[in-house]
Amino acid sequence: MQFKGKIKSKMPQQGLSIFAVMTGLANEHGAINLSQGFPDFDCHPELVELVHKYMKEGHNQYAPMPGVPQLREALAAKMEQDYGMRYHPDTEITITSGATEALYAAITAIVQPGDEVIVFEPYYDVYVPVIRYSGGRPVFVKLTVPDYRVDWTEVQAKITPKTRAVILNNPHNPGTSVFTKEDIARLEEIVSGSDIILISDEVYEHIVFDKEAHHSLAAYPRLAERSMVISSFGKTFHTTGWKMGWCAAPEALTAELRKIHQFITYSVNTPIQHAFAEFLRRRELIDGLKDFYQKKRDFFVELLKATPFKIIPAQGTYFQLVDFSGVSDESEMDFVKRLTIDYGVAAIPLSAFYHNMNDHRIIRFCFAKKKETLEQAVERLCRI
Ligand code: PMP
Ligand code: GLN
Repeated sequence: MQFKGKIKSKMPQQGLSIFAVMTGLANEHGAINLSQGFPDFDCHPELVELVHKYMKEGHNQYAPMPGVPQLREALAAKMEQDYGMRYHPDTEITITSGATEALYAAITAIVQPGDEVIVFEPYYDVYVPVIRYSGGRPVFVKLTVPDYRVDWTEVQAKITPKTRAVILNNPHNPGTSVFTKEDIARLEEIVSGSDIILISDEVYEHIVFDKEAHHSLAAYPRLAERSMVISSFGKTFHTTGWKMGWCAAPEALTAELRKIHQFITYSVNTPIQHAFAEFLRRRELIDGLKDFYQKKRDFFVELLKATPFKIIPAQGTYFQLVDFSGVSDESEMDFVKRLTIDYGVAAIPLSAFYHNMNDHRIIRFCFAKKKETLEQAVERLCRI
């Protein structure tokens, strides 16, 4: 069908998300897909049973706009246990359609035309288009390469009276770094006395390795009081396709977020919310996640040692970065395309997470995969 009218795009520069591009290419060429971040193993069968149970019990109509009360209460208890901060389930926790919707609603609620928002590069792809769509201006601070740490002196220098918010992502995708206590202390120092709001994307909160710990902004009262802390059930419970997330924030910020949320989705999937409310009691599954993914990371890293790639140590998330400069001087994008088409393994180029396509010859593999998948993928990578 042909649309004959004129369209003035609201996002004229916006192309297709790198995740759709690379998964599309992987599927087209029958490649092993280590690009987009999702497990190739199933979630816990009891979780599926619980969703089924709540469907059969008739929980099939709209949930309350902010989310099912039992789930908000369960999350308030979880956050108190994890971070020692008590969020009020009625006024400070909102259930969203994945962390993606929470991020969209938070940025849209906070950013006004002319506002500046500090964004660390490389950045998860949602932030910048939504800031621009709201009329804001992203102010970029590059993380160090290849350890992806924040230069707080540069952050301080880039704060102006127009700075409305800072978007943080910890553990960091795609950088795989995690904040230290020193990072938190510097952040506290920098925002103290200002009106800056912190939007904290913590979807990998339970996937940190070795001696690292996750420092949620929720755990630091002077930061929590100005923060919108966002997470997702998708990463923690291997259910990325269910698109279920949440935002915890002080009442006044939550009220603004909900004004947006009510017109994006109004509310999200009812039986799944009930199922998670009950399943959150399975604390051992959350506590075991670190070990589960650390084993996968270690297994994958051992295998990768047989390839010509340089391995960049990961502190968190379920991604592994490698430097391919010893193998090719192609751009990251050309290299991942060739990897997918000629060798049958898809990855993500880090340049896709920079506003000007900075290219350090570093690519990202997702290791949230079965052992066999990782073995098969590395066998193919060894042919390079
Ligand atoms: N933030 C980061 C850093 C992510 O990696 C992802 C992808 N899981 C999201 C947000 C989006 O999460 P969701 O799938 O729950 O929308
Ligand atoms: N968060 C996932 C990743 O980083 C992708 C999510 C998506 O496809 N939008 O790979």
